Amino acid sequence: MTGAAGRIIIVGGGIAGLCAAVYAQGSGYRVEILEQHHSPGGLATSWRRGDYTFETCLHWLAGSNPSGTLHAEWREVCDIDSLHFVDHDEFVRLEDQHGGRLRIYTDVDRLEAELLSVAPEDEVEIRHFAGAIRQLADLPMPRLDEPWPARVASMLKMLPDLPLLWRLSHLSVEDYGRRFSPPLLRAFFFGGGGAEKLSVLALVISLAWMGNRNAGYAIGGSQAIIRLILERFLALGGHIRCEARVSRILTEGDVATGVQLEDGETIAADWVISAADGHATLHDLLGGAYTDRAFETAFARYETFPSYLQVSLGVARDLSQEPGYLTLVLDDAVEVDPETRLQTLSYRIFHYDPTFAPPGKTAVTCFLPTRNFAFWADLRRDDLQRYQAEKDRVAQAVIAVLERRLPDIATVIETVDVSTPATVVRCTGNWKGSMEGWLMTSDTGFGSLPRTLPGLERFMMVGQWVQPGGGLPSGLLTARAAVRAICREDHAPFLPEGSEREVAE
Ligand SMILES: Cc1cc2nc3c(=O)[nH]c(=O)nc-3n(C[C@H](O)[C@H](O)[C@H](O)COP(=O)(O)OP(=O)(O)OC[C@H]3O[C@@H](n4cnc5c(N)ncnc54)[C@H](O)[C@@H]3O)c2cc1C
Repeated sequence: MTGAAGRIIIVGGGIAGLCAAVYAQGSGYRVEILEQHHSPGGLATSWRRGDYTFETCLHWLAGSNPSGTLHAEWREVCDIDSLHFVDHDEFVRLEDQHGGRLRIYTDVDRLEAELLSVAPEDEVEIRHFAGAIRQLADLPMPRLDEPWPARVASMLKMLPDLPLLWRLSHLSVEDYGRRFSPPLLRAFFFGGGGAEKLSVLALVISLAWMGNRNAGYAIGGSQAIIRLILERFLALGGHIRCEARVSRILTEGDVATGVQLEDGETIAADWVISAADGHATLHDLLGGAYTDRAFETAFARYETFPSYLQVSLGVARDLSQEPGYLTLVLDDAVEVDPETRLQTLSYRIFHYDPTFAPPGKTAVTCFLPTRNFAFWADLRRDDLQRYQAEKDRVAQAVIAVLERRLPDIATVIETVDVSTPATVVRCTGNWKGSMEGWLMTSDTGFGSLPRTLPGLERFMMVGQWVQPGGGLPSGLLTARAAVRAICREDHAPFLPEGSEREVAE
């Protein structure tokens, strides 16, 4: 037994690594985070180009409402109440090239009325859809670290919702979308881009939370959240090292004993937590020596969220009259790469975040999903000139589509930035450049993968690769559960911030 004076090394400073660090440092461990990139955040990131900040991650943070599910857990890792959240009335607007328009409101009554007005022939399905959003509005987030009695109590509370949860989790967005007639409504459920098997449950729950004003956008984006968690960790006395790439997790007699960095330096630890990519953790950092049947099944069978390009535009124009999130359904698909053609393009027009551009200007981003990460990674490695040319081609296509919607916009674009799946892999190390880990499908259900590996002691995994569906809450909740299990094993008190004493079993 080490007690809470032990040393914990955390591999990876994304949201999961940072949350684990706060929980562990707060419970008395000495924690060091090793992050391979030059700054923490992982996928929860943005970057600055001239006057503009380009956000990649944050659409919504589940748990933004002080009286809503998950808020109390966010409070344990950061001063979440110091953030300013925007709750959009309109989640997304879809438009075609022929004047067709569909608004997806976050208020379920307005959404239902809008859908009925564009598709009265689909009334039965629309009523079911709105009913599902209403029913799941108060669904508690299942807690991964609850002891059995509490878990049973939670399950009992969820009992009336279980049939609906089961049905929706076994329906893909693509199949669900086919139940509706208007192409714009189908495009809302699935507009193409490689996530067609995503369970529609994920979408319904997101809309339910937005309707509850518990999935707001934090001004400053994902880095505002990351900064707050990092501040809490540093204030507790923790340490983080950036540009420190772990190449091996060291073991002795089936016990994790520390890590080795790329430059050969070794660091000893009483516990190692990997908050890095799941595939790399098992196959590279642990050299394939430890595995679990659940992970083998997942690597062989589960689908990942796709990778993506992001075209970011610095626009010297006030676009505050435009929707914040605009999906354009195209007559002619845009070619992203040899295997990817997109029939819809989605633009985020960040007029609602004044920290992203000076007054009178607007940061705009376009997210282009692709599963052909290898094309971009190979091109960047083998032919930088062609890589650049392909990035320029995609950027011009994205601008041309926007120009049709916002005439003359091209004349006021003063910054263009393109990231690709090669960028995602380089900056975060995620398998296949995935944006969010495992897609939640009928295969995965809403269960999680193990946080420990059979035969390996004093090792834990956290983050989006142990919780299908991914997202920022997966980082928070898997981290909480892992550190709580570590404390239990060490007979040390688990002391999340705000709790007066050890959290009771
Ligand atoms: C476009 C986009 C939109 C999204 N929108 C939302 C949203 O609106 N709401 C939401 O909740 N979620 C959203 N997500 C998902 C969310 O960003 C991710 O699920 C979450 O950030 C993953 O966190 P993580 O800590 O598990 O993994 P990561 O963020 O991948 O962190 C892993 C970290 O480990 C580091 N690392 C890897 N290997 C090593 C190594 N060998 N040594 C040292 N360090 C290493 C990486 O550099 C990285 O910092 C979005 C993601 C994307 C890409």
